[in-house]
Amino acid sequence: MDIYDDIGSIKNVGEKRRELLNKVGIYTVKDLLEYIPRDYTDRSQITPLNEVEPGEEYTVKAKIKGDFQVFPRGKLKIVKTVISDGKGEAAVVWFNQTYLKNSLDRSKEYLFTGTFNLVNGRLTMTAPDFDPVREKESLNAGRIVPKYRLTKNLNQKLLRRLIYETIGEAESLVREFIPRYIREEYNLCDRVYALKNIHFPETSEAFFDARRRLVFEELLILQLRLLMLKGEIKKKQSGIKFSFFETEPIVDRLPFKLTKGQEETLDEITADMESGCPMNRLVQGDVGSGKTAVAEICAYIAYINGAQTAVMTPTDVLATQHYVTFKELFSKLGVEVVLLKGALKAKEKREVKKKIAEGSAHIIIGTHSLIQEGVEFKELGLVITDEQHRFSVNQRRLLTAKGENPHTLIMSATPIPRTLGLILYGDLDISTIRTMPAGRQVINTSYVNSSYHERIFKFILKHIKDGRQAYIVCPMIEENDKTELKSVKAFVNELEGTCLREVRRGFVHGKMKPVEKQEVMDRFAAGEIDLLVATTVIEVGINVPNASIMVIENAERFGLSQLHQLRGRVGRGKYQSYCILVSDSKGGEAKERLKVMVKNFDGFDLSEKDLTLRGPGDFFGLRQHGLPEFKIANLYKDMPILKEVQGLTAKIWETDKFLEKEENRSLKERIEEVFGVYENYQAGL
Ligand code: ADP
Ligand code: MG
Repeated sequence: MDIYDDIGSIKNVGEKRRELLNKVGIYTVKDLLEYIPRDYTDRSQITPLNEVEPGEEYTVKAKIKGDFQVFPRGKLKIVKTVISDGKGEAAVVWFNQTYLKNSLDRSKEYLFTGTFNLVNGRLTMTAPDFDPVREKESLNAGRIVPKYRLTKNLNQKLLRRLIYETIGEAESLVREFIPRYIREEYNLCDRVYALKNIHFPETSEAFFDARRRLVFEELLILQLRLLMLKGEIKKKQSGIKFSFFETEPIVDRLPFKLTKGQEETLDEITADMESGCPMNRLVQGDVGSGKTAVAEICAYIAYINGAQTAVMTPTDVLATQHYVTFKELFSKLGVEVVLLKGALKAKEKREVKKKIAEGSAHIIIGTHSLIQEGVEFKELGLVITDEQHRFSVNQRRLLTAKGENPHTLIMSATPIPRTLGLILYGDLDISTIRTMPAGRQVINTSYVNSSYHERIFKFILKHIKDGRQAYIVCPMIEENDKTELKSVKAFVNELEGTCLREVRRGFVHGKMKPVEKQEVMDRFAAGEIDLLVATTVIEVGINVPNASIMVIENAERFGLSQLHQLRGRVGRGKYQSYCILVSDSKGGEAKERLKVMVKNFDGFDLSEKDLTLRGPGDFFGLRQHGLPEFKIANLYKDMPILKEVQGLTAKIWETDKFLEKEENRSLKERIEEVFGVYENYQAGL
């Protein structure tokens, strides 16, 4: 047997089973060995029957004592008997498995694992797993038992058996690829031991050693891969070299002086642009730190160097808003700004595309429509994606493929902790804007329960009468009677009965058509709507400086980073602004999170806290980053291991960037095995 053999070639796998295994992603022997259990049950403890309690799962060691009875119940056939271990007795039932009546041997002892209940006053075990008691080989009971992700017709017992038999040959199949010097320094067990014990742990200690090794290896390979990718991009000298950097005409038109953070970021960008290598840079800065101005200046630099700039945003609303801002700034400079969004009429779209292809459009703003086929650029030199966490690596790459290694700049308003940044954006250089524009006000933030609603509404009314506008954010769209979540529609109705019925109200949510959403947003921006009730569609980058109140309903439903984003929608003008978090949650963690919001206004600090409170899974959709799904690592739980890995990769980056040294060669081979070679990786994405 070879590790790359088709799974159909192993014992006990015919065509049918082969197809089932393919369904869960197992194509080769290697896939089978690396099919990590999703969970375990500890069935290593055997409990005497006289000590079991109804409602709990136990493993018992017993013999069949009673007769087998088979009787129908509805469509099911019930098989029933009695087991005994000498200390106690219990009834056992199975459903439809009538063959058990002949296959269970009364002279043998079995290990049964299952849940006990009282049925008609009698202790009864329902559909337990069982295995005959043998010396060592029991796979389904009497040990720590793995549980795998399944699909229809593929059951745990079969998978356990197949994996167990294959792992028996691990010594000859599995190759170690973490060099000894690393295993020794980081105290990692070898790969054969790790795989054996991740599937069938001998002891819980062996399991932890195995898991540590496999998490370490998974993170190490990914982190090294990202670093190599960054190195490769830098090595490719074919980027567009910009030569002109006289930005006064545009900087002078900005109604403010650039902050230190903006200046420094621009210096880093300029250095990239004149290096001759393609820039690949993430700019992270808190909400309101002025990333748009940085983007505008960069687009201007591209323009004076004869190149087009594409600005890609996640939503139509944001595309339109950028279009308005850019157009206003650029109109007097002879720079042509165009908008390409989903909602355009066919004819308009054709015209815009023509301008882009001819090169008479210099700055092109749009959503995903920019990567759709049919958009050809004359001379694409710079790609800016705004609010990057909504775009995957793949989408970014599709757009850059439209030019000849254009420079790319990614703007993110979600400050992320450094450790995560290294793994989420490991292929990028990062600039951070930490200084906020001077005189930025602190948004008065409070946390109340829903008994405050009437007071909140009066407060909103007073401010609207003073000429301000307000947002109310609810987590869901439809009324759902199972939960008390405020839905947008229900909330709008509820407002009819309050003092706010006299203000001009509008609502937006994710299920509306883009044109409808746009219309409401436009009216809000134009001041024709006083109060906007919305879902989180407004979370991303909306800029209405006259809005001064943000109320967030069911605030416990949101993570800190998201709350911070929402709060950032107010306080954008000269008016004192307020954020009111409404929650009736009694949960300690939710309460703590909301209290953190009241005292803390720095996005970077909040992101660190969010990570410790909730973990990265909730923090932002990891999948959206285009990261491969982890087989075993959990970025939150395994943060300490991630830190060790990053310490190690930093050392490797210093001494052997492309893993060319003999001692690191096996790591490089593993990277190619997992991700394909670099060229393929690019083409595939
Ligand atoms: P974000 O980083 O969240 O995208 P924006 O670019 O929308 O922030 O900027 C937020 C507000 O700050 C805008 O109204 C913008 O005009 C203003 N702004 C940007 N840079 C400065 C600056 N250096 N000084 C003063 N105001 C600024
Ligand atoms: Mg922005």
